[in-house]
Amino acid sequence: MAWANYTVTSWLRQGWEYVRFGMAFFVLRQDKPYVLGLVTNDTCNLHCIHCHVANVDHVNMPYFQIQTILTQNYKKGVRFLYLEGGEPYLWRDGDYRLKDVIRLAHDIGYLRVHIYTNGTVKMDAAPDYTWISIDGLGDVYRTIRGIPLENVLNNIRTYKGRWGIVYTVNTINYRHIGEFLTFTQRELPGIRVMFYFHTPYYGIDSLLLSKVQRVEAIDTIFESKRAKLPVMNSFAGLKAMASGEYFHPTDLWRVIDSTGEYQCCRAFGNPDVCENCGYSTCAEITLARNWRMGPISQLMRAY
Ligand code: SF4
Ligand code: SF4
Repeated sequence: MAWANYTVTSWLRQGWEYVRFGMAFFVLRQDKPYVLGLVTNDTCNLHCIHCHVANVDHVNMPYFQIQTILTQNYKKGVRFLYLEGGEPYLWRDGDYRLKDVIRLAHDIGYLRVHIYTNGTVKMDAAPDYTWISIDGLGDVYRTIRGIPLENVLNNIRTYKGRWGIVYTVNTINYRHIGEFLTFTQRELPGIRVMFYFHTPYYGIDSLLLSKVQRVEAIDTIFESKRAKLPVMNSFAGLKAMASGEYFHPTDLWRVIDSTGEYQCCRAFGNPDVCENCGYSTCAEITLARNWRMGPISQLMRAY
């Protein structure tokens, strides 16, 4: 009975927090951070060709620093937490593991906790949603991530939590989108794919799509979605990613790592990078805020 009372109380509290969030975000349109991306560690077991953030300092943020950051940001109104790395499942502080960070965030009151992972490590935490990075099949995946895709598939087939795929489109994989979606629909029923686009965080490089290539890729994704393949991006979000016409950078989220706190992402203040931003969630969230039903529905399914 006490357990039932606790469940009802926590359900009511969460419902009330959603109402408050909805009022602040959609109705009053308060410009403040609602989402925190926390980089718990830069350690990673992979060496992906596009990555500049892994294993730079081999930093694991101490648990008590995480506790302080989560508490302070919750007091400022942040209600959604993304844990990222490095590979967040490799985060360690003494006996603390990632599942302790997630438990802590839920205890503080965060409504949703998401993890971005490469999917190669045992996924034993209990986030509300997991994003697994898979950017191609066979040689395409191996070229980008340096390992066979089977290493990930063997790990995720037994995973019981809610999850989706992040496919970051670049010059290597942009013509393999259709085959990837067909594979996902056949081999991973019920799983959907969120498409990001390679962002030149560290300068223009050979992975960055030209404008023509980006439009070609987005056309493919658009048509695939029309054909009921498992695309998570909304039609409106895809159009915004093609035109660049959506509000960004934004003040709606923060990223914190061991070096400090950044508005939007660690590239904030670099207009050349923002012009080529491939972080599609940014478009989805800013469009949702303007009451676009496609992005709202897309976000509700992941949140
Ligand atoms: S899995 Fe992520 S953090 Fe690790 S090397 Fe690849 S992109 Fe970087
Ligand atoms: S728009 Fe935001 S997420 Fe995109 S590159 Fe700029 S600061 Fe980063």
